[in-house]
Amino acid sequence: MENRLLEPIDHLKGVGEETAELLHDIGIYSINDLIEYFPYRYDDNSLRDLEEVKHDERVTVEGKVHSEAVLTYFGKKRSRLTFRLLVGRYLLSVVCFNRPYFKNKLSLNSIVTVTGKWDKNRQTITAQELVFGPKQEISGIEPVYSVKGKLTVKGMRKFISVAMKEYIDEIEEILPIELLEKYKLITRKQAIQTIHAPIEQASLKQARRRFVYEEFLLFQLKMQALRKVQREQSKGLNQQYPKETLDHFIKALPFPLTIAQSRVIDEILSDMKSPYRMNRLLQGDVGSGKTVVAAISIYATILSGYQGALMVPTEILAEQHAESLIKLFEPFDINVALLTSSVKGKKRRELLEKLKNNEIHLLIGTHALIQDEINFHTLGLVITDEQHRFGVEQRRMLREKGKNTDVLFMTATPIPRTLAITAFGEMDVSVIDELPAGRKTIETYWVKPDMLERIIAFIEKEIAKGRQAYVICPLIEESEKLDVQNALDVHSMLTDYYQGRYKVGLMHGRLSSDEKDAVMRSFSDNEVHVLVSTTVVEVGVNVPNATTMVIYDAERFGLSQLHQLRGRVGRGSEQSYCILLADPKSETGKERMKIMTETNDGFVLSERDLELRGPGDFFGKKQSGMPIFKVADMVHDYRALEVARQDAVELVRSDAFWQEEKYNGLRKQLTNSGILNGEKLD
Ligand code: ADP
Ligand code: MG
Repeated sequence: MENRLLEPIDHLKGVGEETAELLHDIGIYSINDLIEYFPYRYDDNSLRDLEEVKHDERVTVEGKVHSEAVLTYFGKKRSRLTFRLLVGRYLLSVVCFNRPYFKNKLSLNSIVTVTGKWDKNRQTITAQELVFGPKQEISGIEPVYSVKGKLTVKGMRKFISVAMKEYIDEIEEILPIELLEKYKLITRKQAIQTIHAPIEQASLKQARRRFVYEEFLLFQLKMQALRKVQREQSKGLNQQYPKETLDHFIKALPFPLTIAQSRVIDEILSDMKSPYRMNRLLQGDVGSGKTVVAAISIYATILSGYQGALMVPTEILAEQHAESLIKLFEPFDINVALLTSSVKGKKRRELLEKLKNNEIHLLIGTHALIQDEINFHTLGLVITDEQHRFGVEQRRMLREKGKNTDVLFMTATPIPRTLAITAFGEMDVSVIDELPAGRKTIETYWVKPDMLERIIAFIEKEIAKGRQAYVICPLIEESEKLDVQNALDVHSMLTDYYQGRYKVGLMHGRLSSDEKDAVMRSFSDNEVHVLVSTTVVEVGVNVPNATTMVIYDAERFGLSQLHQLRGRVGRGSEQSYCILLADPKSETGKERMKIMTETNDGFVLSERDLELRGPGDFFGKKQSGMPIFKVADMVHDYRALEVARQDAVELVRSDAFWQEEKYNGLRKQLTNSGILNGEKLD
């Protein structure tokens, strides 16, 4: 039988052609669209204890008139009526504007019901509605719908209540009974009824709970199904390498791998060996040792007869990776090349020629790697480091560089898990959740700028022990608009101060890449003791002897950026320090500084960052691609999101889900979204 909920909206009693058009404007075409048009908030007109009501909140109270009403006019038509009302043990004032005729009806000791805004400080309600007599016994919670044009909230309430009466029995359950029972969820029908006409806050909560789970489960099912489809459709390279040779390479590393590193390497290698194409996200906090994981994976692809590419967001990082990987691969006869903007002319042509002839096994560079002129012989594995900094488009182009190429995205955490499993839900995820042994926790302090002198002395003490320090400034030059420290000034101040004793270097984005290179080299060779820099050193840079990180105007940076900056120290076995020089004016600014001093855990930080900023801001609007949920909230309902994801993974993997009748409802949702017809989820 045809589902009547799919009937067009003008089939509803009271909805003519004109109203139908107004409803189309807010996206309502069918009866189903209407009953799934949920309120965005509720007015709670049920009687509440004033103790619980917050300042400025709307409230309804019933009380006894306790004083003569006083009427004042200002102007001809405008007036104010004030009287005292006794509500329980509360004696409060009621103000009522422009209703002078109420005065004579408000006799002493009579009962009235007042709805309005509660001014907690003045103990006053500004009345929006006033009813003479006790509160009527109807549901006090009224849904408020978002409307446009000539539609009114009252009108929407009417349409929906008509639709609910007429069509309520058409609403089918889509969740299988086992899930309803497992999580004690109310049925779809009950939930929709409650959402539109709640009797009390508690049942509203139950209805909300059901839809949070339903929305997350459907979304995750789509992601997991998409992943399955992509996997089955995208043939991989089936890379085969001699295991002993790779093991030999791993044994030759200067340190044993952590358990977490070994685990993610197994995950990556099994993807590369599989007949499917790898599409994997590798998350690991700063300093967790992602580079060596990349190196091992690249060696595996080279042993299988392919080339590797490593793409990073900045040239400094490209140079640094090139330097350490060249050293690492040298004994193994691997040719590593660095492609940056400064490789020009003949040198560039030669390099590209070698790349095409498979004489270069690993190419390292910035987004320059995805330009058209760059042709590999047979690209087997592409890795992007600090991948959250590349746009979606760049990621796609890189993937298309080689046919069936395996792809690994590496990132230093700032993606909270909740976002990772929504924005990157169609990828496989590996996590390095452990730091190499022997690392000491970085001690982080938040100090006011007037402590500067003591900090400079502190740096000096560290240098005297043979260590080095970073000093980060938000700007390169003095700015008229912003009162923040700039790198040039700080550099000359520190140069004066340490004159004749220690060397101070300067690094910022406007130096040429040769100059940057020279500065970075002298810092990693410990010829420069203090490096004053803008945030160009933020990602990836690795100088283990640096133990102190001072950040000027730290309140100007976001939490994940501060964490990235802090990650430049604490890379060796010595105790490291991070000093935040900040005088934040806003509450969230203070909160950020506090959080920094409280935790070193990138996962915790990124979750807190998400709470402070909200998901929309997290990736920047453009490339967010974040899904929109009607009821669910990714930040506050993250536990439900985790649960739903796990359920979705298990369902999509099971045969029962694809065959049994009790999953029809859920499967139909996937068909409707186009995934099972080979279309892609956008
Ligand atoms: P990130 O994950 O931030 O990119 P890196 O790969 O730069 O971290 O590694 C940070 C430092 O830890 C480097 O100096 C690296 O050589 C070292 N390292 C990596 N893995 C280990 C390990 N298993 N044991 C000891 N040190 C390690
Ligand atoms: Mg790194």
